[in-house]
Amino acid sequence: MQTVLITGASRGIGAECARQFAARGYRVLINYCRSGEKAEALLDEIKAITDADIFCADVSDPDQVRRMFSEIEKEYGGTDILVNNAGIAQTKLFTDITDEDWKRMISVNLSSVFYCCRSALPYMIRKKYGRIINISSMWGQVGGSCEVHYSAAKAGIIGLTKALAQEEGPSGITVNCVAPGVIRTDMTSCYSEEDMKALSDETPTGTTGTPADIARTVLFLADEKASFITGQVFGINGGFVIT
Ligand code: NAP
Repeated sequence: MQTVLITGASRGIGAECARQFAARGYRVLINYCRSGEKAEALLDEIKAITDADIFCADVSDPDQVRRMFSEIEKEYGGTDILVNNAGIAQTKLFTDITDEDWKRMISVNLSSVFYCCRSALPYMIRKKYGRIINISSMWGQVGGSCEVHYSAAKAGIIGLTKALAQEEGPSGITVNCVAPGVIRTDMTSCYSEEDMKALSDETPTGTTGTPADIARTVLFLADEKASFITGQVFGINGGFVIT
């Protein structure tokens, strides 16, 4: 049984990834930070169909990430698949972004990917097998107005993915990136229905996306058969941006 760790799996895209991996018989390790009740409810749901476990850790904190991985190592040896999904967003004029906003955005969205990859890789390298899937954003590909710090962090994930893919390819480890467009989750709940309709209208497919759209791509990249795909960025956005 392969093991997958999904960061930020208590809600939204991460929770849907957890459900889809569970349905395919993977052992699912759920990471969460603040939404303990939701994460526990998801664990109960998933445990009914597969092996699963839960880990509370703020992935922006290197010590908490180290502790989470040492618990995973003790229980399961390591993780075969790592989905770096945890993230936060913030809409602000560039000139209003504070030092604190900047540090938090970079640490939760980008440094977390570094910390988790660093802890996950020794096991994968020993096994000469691994799958790392990083969740970026279309704003990381093209930049988003009033989301400069978010765009910078998400662009950083793309750079990290491409470089790490080159370094780890010889060890049988693929590293890819999924860049979602507008997906209906808590993260986009700040938009009114009118805004969401306008965003759908702007999208070539005429719709916004769902967590399931993203999870299906993550599962595809996690498959053993996806071994020839690495260092790539998959824009799942209905054609909203085409790079
Ligand atoms: P969401 O519904 O707001 O969920 C965010 C998840 O990240 C939650 O499970 C949250 O856990 C977790 N998280 C946040 N900070 C964390 C931390 N420090 N440590 C551990 N977990 C943390 O967001 P979403 O829409 O599912 O987004 C998932 C990913 O997709 C993010 O990286 C986001 O940037 C990216 N994305 C989303 C969209 C979109 O339109 N929704 C578009 C492009 C990219 P807790 O609640 O337990 O703290």
